[in-house]
Amino acid sequence: MKALAILGSTGSIGTQTLEVVRQHKERLEVRVLTAGSNAQLLIEQALEFKPDAVVIADENQYEKVVTALQDTDVKVYTGAQALCDVVQQPSVDIVVTAMVGFVGLRPTIAAIEAKKTIALANKETLVVAGELISRLVVENKVRILPVDSEHSAIFQSLVGEGDNTIDKILLTASGGPFRRFTSEQLQNVTAADALKHPNWSMGAKITIDSATLMNKGLEMIEAKWLFGVQPAQIEVVLHPESIIHSAVQFLDGSIKAQLAMPTMCLPILYALSYPERWEFEAERLDFFKLGAMTFEQADTERFPCLRLAYEAIEQGGTMPCIMNAANEIANELFRQGRISFMAIPQIIEETMQRHTVDYTVSLDTYLAADLSARSLARDIADAIS
Ligand code: NAD
Ligand code: MG
Repeated sequence: MKALAILGSTGSIGTQTLEVVRQHKERLEVRVLTAGSNAQLLIEQALEFKPDAVVIADENQYEKVVTALQDTDVKVYTGAQALCDVVQQPSVDIVVTAMVGFVGLRPTIAAIEAKKTIALANKETLVVAGELISRLVVENKVRILPVDSEHSAIFQSLVGEGDNTIDKILLTASGGPFRRFTSEQLQNVTAADALKHPNWSMGAKITIDSATLMNKGLEMIEAKWLFGVQPAQIEVVLHPESIIHSAVQFLDGSIKAQLAMPTMCLPILYALSYPERWEFEAERLDFFKLGAMTFEQADTERFPCLRLAYEAIEQGGTMPCIMNAANEIANELFRQGRISFMAIPQIIEETMQRHTVDYTVSLDTYLAADLSARSLARDIADAIS
């Protein structure tokens, strides 16, 4: 039995993780569930999976969860600190980090310090603090198993390769809903347009990140830290069918890839079953139905966020953290209809230009950089909208 703590169990990755658990009840059990503010779904999940503890981060929802679970043995906690405490519970083996954004950083660090295996969906953690996290992973001798589909594909391609050198990573991307849009068309797209993703159904923030290609920028940085490669070795390949989930090229020119129908359940399952492979009921890839696969280059003129991510990791230090903070603000303002689509990269770029980089590797440094970049990004947004 592997015992799970699922951070962000009410979200897109969280609910799909529970779907995987339902198919493997004899191997997986849930010890901790946490949510931001969706008390109702958290209560239903707690009644179904009977964890030891749940955390509702939103303190206003605490009473509701306590009342609903009063006849059970489930302990109910609230607040940000509780997220860091529950992941350290001795009964937990694997922490699935499926919460969205910078808020994932502290609980992930707490889980690593408690020597838990991390099934990492929360890519923002590695973008913001890749150097610190990598250091803590080595010090605490823990493993990070990627949940992001591209990184799972890369990870699967590396199984059995030992110390063989990676020549290049081919990071695939669907290109999002606006892949074919002209710069003029991109001026007028709305959040509702962006939320219609062609291949994946995901949380709102990552869906917007996919439309701007910031998601691929974040994933490039995530790949750098997970697989120890340089950004120049990571090539983004638009592949609108989302069948090849990413690939690795070795020194002899051979390329290994992982292919499957697009469903996040598979990479989630692999992170939980690793190093084994367990059966899973889902549509199988049929080459004859598929017919063909296509590939294109990413256009950083129309989608500057990808260029900004390469620039941020090139500068290093707190710059990726600053970029991430500005992106979280701009992404949210766009979803609220308060800024245009093309203002997103503009706000991020200006925030990056107006910030100085700190090269100290510490949590406090990242917390400070995040806070000040958010405030600057809001000021810049106010000025242009
Ligand atoms: P989502 O918005 O659907 O779910 C986010 C979860 O985090 C919810 O359970 C929410 O309650 C919780 N949460 C939000 N704010 C919180 C806070 N302040 N404190 C505590 N909990 C909070 O997001 P998602 O699409 O499931 O994405 C989760 C993470 O996984 C993101 O980092 C995303 O980049 C990554 N990811 C998602 C997908 C996908 O297909 N959805 C694929 C790859 C990677
Ligand atoms: Mg991905």
